[in-house]
Amino acid sequence: MDRTRRISLLIVTVLGLLALGGPASTAAPAKKPAQEAVPGELLIGFRGDVDQKAVLKAVGATEKKSFKKIHGALVRVGPDAVEETLAKLRKDPRVRYAEQNFVVHADVVPNDPSFSSLWGMNSIGAPSAWNVTAGSAAVTVADIDTGVDWSHPDLSAQIWVNPGENCAGCRTDGVDNDHNGYVDDWRGWDFANGDNNPMDDHGHGTHVAGTIGAVGNNGVGVAGVNWNVQIMPVKFLNAQGSGTTADAVSAVLYAAQNGADVMNNSWAGGDYSQALADAITVADQHNSLFVAAAGNDGSDNDADPTYPASYDLPNVVAVAATDSSDDLAYFSNYGAQSVDLGAPGVNIYSTWPGGGYQYLSGTSMATPHVAGAAALAKAEFPAATAVGLKALLLGSADADPALSGVTTAGGRLNVGTAVSCSSSPQVWLDSPRPGFIVDVGTPVTDSVFVSMNPPEVPA
Ligand code: CA
Repeated sequence: MDRTRRISLLIVTVLGLLALGGPASTAAPAKKPAQEAVPGELLIGFRGDVDQKAVLKAVGATEKKSFKKIHGALVRVGPDAVEETLAKLRKDPRVRYAEQNFVVHADVVPNDPSFSSLWGMNSIGAPSAWNVTAGSAAVTVADIDTGVDWSHPDLSAQIWVNPGENCAGCRTDGVDNDHNGYVDDWRGWDFANGDNNPMDDHGHGTHVAGTIGAVGNNGVGVAGVNWNVQIMPVKFLNAQGSGTTADAVSAVLYAAQNGADVMNNSWAGGDYSQALADAITVADQHNSLFVAAAGNDGSDNDADPTYPASYDLPNVVAVAATDSSDDLAYFSNYGAQSVDLGAPGVNIYSTWPGGGYQYLSGTSMATPHVAGAAALAKAEFPAATAVGLKALLLGSADADPALSGVTTAGGRLNVGTAVSCSSSPQVWLDSPRPGFIVDVGTPVTDSVFVSMNPPEVPA
């Protein structure tokens, strides 16, 4: 099907749903709405060791939070002075970037509850993967979302415990025992409310957690891609499923600095943010894979980027949603250059706060299948780097006509193939020199060092 026809069919599907009188939120707009920002808040990046206070004083801005690791800060200005202050800061040679603090949101669409549960696990070859490995408690996945119901019977055994806050009495002693800047963060952190209890007051993050790693083979509820894994709850979306870029930066830096091997990011919103791009690069430096939802607008991310999925960084994997027929979900964003692969995201059954279970649809639900697969591969190949895991997952995807030409891999996740390392060798450019540019389908005319894919995984 050509692109034009696909798009027109998408629009018809959306309009059809509206005509049937479903809730407005069931329809994903084909064109994304304007980006919302927090009034009077800016994210600023500074060059080198400049006097940050002097820069802020010159424009009448006050610091709200410092991001030392990325030489940045969240600042307040008058709500009416945002455009004027941005213009001034962008002309200041001491300033690397100045941008608005965007509002982001959980990427979920309502579901059709008439579906057999856990079709997605079969679709991605999870049962054959489980013959190889069911996961490892040595692998940590950060669930950067609305929190996690850490008391859920299918999740409680999988919740990450911060070893630096776990000495006798340390969990609740009011002391930052591991000096990471967060007091008593023994099971993650809540950046939405600024406390040490990342309990889920929405549901979205708990649903994501169940797909990553609900306990398997325990006679209760569902099984995640991993039957054994550590899920680090990093809450930055509030009870309404909304958050800010600044809190996303804090969440990503927290997960990176506290040892997450994989980060699940089932949320989207805002324009390009250099602060968030810098934080994701810090994650790469900590060897953490950043898996992100492509978005639910039914649109082309190549033409109209969706962040954070569209950051062109080596450790980012952007995930589209497929249905049980391996078709692209009607709501899923796509992108020949900017969306990597598909994974199940329609009528996904998973854990819900209060010990419950729920069906949900969205690229939010596709993303944890890929994040979970990355964790399972990490359990099998502990020496794999973040970009090695990415190469492994993309290289082992099942070819899918519906995803050909609209994703970089042209296929749907197959974790069974990934953990058995039975895919065909492919070339992966791990560290191209500065200025090296190549498009899919374009012959390489530069000289490159080539190793077999994935280079870090033993044969
Ligand atoms: Ca601490």
